[in-house]
Amino acid sequence: MTQWRLVAAAVLGLLLGTGGATAQAPATTYIQAGRLLADPASGRVLSAHTIVVRDGRIVGIEEGYVGEGQGEVVDLRDSFVLPGLIDSHVHICHENGPNDRVRRTVQTAADLAVDGAHYARITLEAGFTTVADMGEENDAIFAVRDGIARGRIPGPRIVAAGNALSPHGGPGDPAGYRPDVGHTLRRPSLCSGADDCRRVVRETIHRGADHIKITATGSVLADLASGLGQQFTDEEMRAIVEAAHALGRRVTAHAHDAAAINAFLRAGGDSIEHGTNLDSESVRLFRERGAWLVPTLLAGETVGRWANDPNGFLSPAVRDKALLVGPRMIESARLAHAGGVRIAFGTDSSVSRHGENAREFALLVRAGLTPLEAIQTATVNAADHLGLSALIGSISPGKAADIVAVRGDPTADVTVLERISFVMRDGRVYRR
Ligand SMILES: [Zn+2]
Repeated sequence: MTQWRLVAAAVLGLLLGTGGATAQAPATTYIQAGRLLADPASGRVLSAHTIVVRDGRIVGIEEGYVGEGQGEVVDLRDSFVLPGLIDSHVHICHENGPNDRVRRTVQTAADLAVDGAHYARITLEAGFTTVADMGEENDAIFAVRDGIARGRIPGPRIVAAGNALSPHGGPGDPAGYRPDVGHTLRRPSLCSGADDCRRVVRETIHRGADHIKITATGSVLADLASGLGQQFTDEEMRAIVEAAHALGRRVTAHAHDAAAINAFLRAGGDSIEHGTNLDSESVRLFRERGAWLVPTLLAGETVGRWANDPNGFLSPAVRDKALLVGPRMIESARLAHAGGVRIAFGTDSSVSRHGENAREFALLVRAGLTPLEAIQTATVNAADHLGLSALIGSISPGKAADIVAVRGDPTADVTVLERISFVMRDGRVYRR
């Protein structure tokens, strides 16, 4: 092709592109909602309203049932409609089970990504339109996140930490393996000393992390009898928070014991995962710093159940920790909630099964939250916690069209959220 023909073809393409866009009005969807909790912060439930959606965004909420003959109509007149749910703590690429040790030696990052695609679809269909992944192999989780964002695979919007930071010998350092095998399984996110930890934070963000996750204490499922106390030093935690904030990333800490929770909050950390043994000083610090607690009660319940199973697969070291943590988490969430700590919804799904995330709501209610407060944790609160309030968390003009529906009234009985009947993410319907 000659030069001018190339230019002419390009110009024609531009014209056709522009002409096509103007000739074709953007598709509008009208969601007719019998009852509508558009703004969980206010708690106001509207009757007989229509949500107007265009190009993946909410463009309006109108009184009455409108839209017939003007675009696609979604009839949810018999349903309760609310914003897409948000889970701020999942590990979308795997599920824990009896074969974990073998799984980790055979599964490649590609295998993890394929499983991640599978669990992402299940999670979306359960009504969770956004999740935060709190620790997974970089290559796997970033591929799943980006594949969903590009529309290649169905799933929730994902914000991802990549590999979680752990001290050498800590929860992220594979335990219970032959030394050479354990060494091979190590991820590049172990660090010791402030400088080394700063380096890992910068490399993790450089690799693609949306936020930073650290394991400040021992963990239940690490196959080591080394407790649930503080493992990163105060100095390491200060260095991590400083390095992450300098690059515009939030930092959250997996933390069980109070000393570590308090040290991390004093270091300027943004949120705590689990918070199992938090105390009154923690409550004071959470409030003073405006930090978030993500209680993950479903994980506590799940490991407690495994530990009490006489045919269970937990090693003695893990079982002892699980027996402590299971019942304790719910009491800590109760203490935090009563003390006015801001709570965001998170399940640690991978411990519990993906798609069962909504079981957390009933546990939050058991910890003293009202059903509406429990719904707020998974909508407005989680959006705020993840820094995504401009995009998600409520049904209001300008935000992403992330919308779910249930039969029944979740402000009266939160367990109806375990049976989601309609899911839209970014204006696209994934369950009807
Ligand atoms: Zn976790």
